[in-house]
Amino acid sequence: MIRIHPLQTGWVRVRPSQLAGVGPLRRLRPLFESHWSAPLPIFAYLILHPEGPILVDAGMSPRVADPGYLPGWHPYFRRAVRFEVAPDEAIDRRLAALGIAPQDLRAVVLTHLHIDHMAGLTHLPSSRVLLSRLEWRVAQGLAGAVRGYLLEHLPKGFRPEFLRFEEEGPPPFPRAASLTADRRVLALPTPGHSAGQVSVLVENEGRYALIAGDASYTERAMQEGIIDGVAASPYSARLSLSRIRVFCRHFPTAYLPAHDPESPARLTAVFG
Ligand SMILES: [Zn+2]
Repeated sequence: MIRIHPLQTGWVRVRPSQLAGVGPLRRLRPLFESHWSAPLPIFAYLILHPEGPILVDAGMSPRVADPGYLPGWHPYFRRAVRFEVAPDEAIDRRLAALGIAPQDLRAVVLTHLHIDHMAGLTHLPSSRVLLSRLEWRVAQGLAGAVRGYLLEHLPKGFRPEFLRFEEEGPPPFPRAASLTADRRVLALPTPGHSAGQVSVLVENEGRYALIAGDASYTERAMQEGIIDGVAASPYSARLSLSRIRVFCRHFPTAYLPAHDPESPARLTAVFG
């Protein structure tokens, strides 16, 4: 028996043009828009597996309220995103409410390294963290900072382990990395939103949950092939979404992006 719990680590508002990117100036539009989206949840997901609990993403941290946490020099963080995280929404507090201590986690898997998916690692400083090697590479240095990666907020001495996509994935996904010996929890490359974005597929008695990070912001965006306004590669994003659509058409799948308010209801309805 495998259970999944959504853990909400606060809220984010972005510009509407980030939710659905438009045209060749897709990545500039969010910087010049004056409206905000409704507040969107920031979900991490806890997989309770017989081999030990696995956390997918660490969510945002209440430390975002500290002065200077977000870089004022970066136009995206200055103009295009607002976070709201209460102290009891930190990931360690969310885990504690389920009776899980950080040292109980078998691993933390990051879908990608954007701040609202990894800031919570600061509350899990000694956890084993797995992520894509490509994602780690593109996040480094000045180029990574310009892309919006804030690696300065990783725990001191942070050393990730890299996912090894050496197995054949469930069609149409070409590659996979098993996270458990029974192969019921698989990391799958679903690049596009970021270069090394991965999703985590969980199987339980013929039903599936696809924990998708930001492969799309909502299920509807996945179904309609809507590419977000900050995607690193629209081409890869489209390919990833088409693979996800094919999989979801053939198998009963709860599609669980990080920012879709409907994710928890879908999880209960489809995965149990
Ligand atoms: Zn992201």
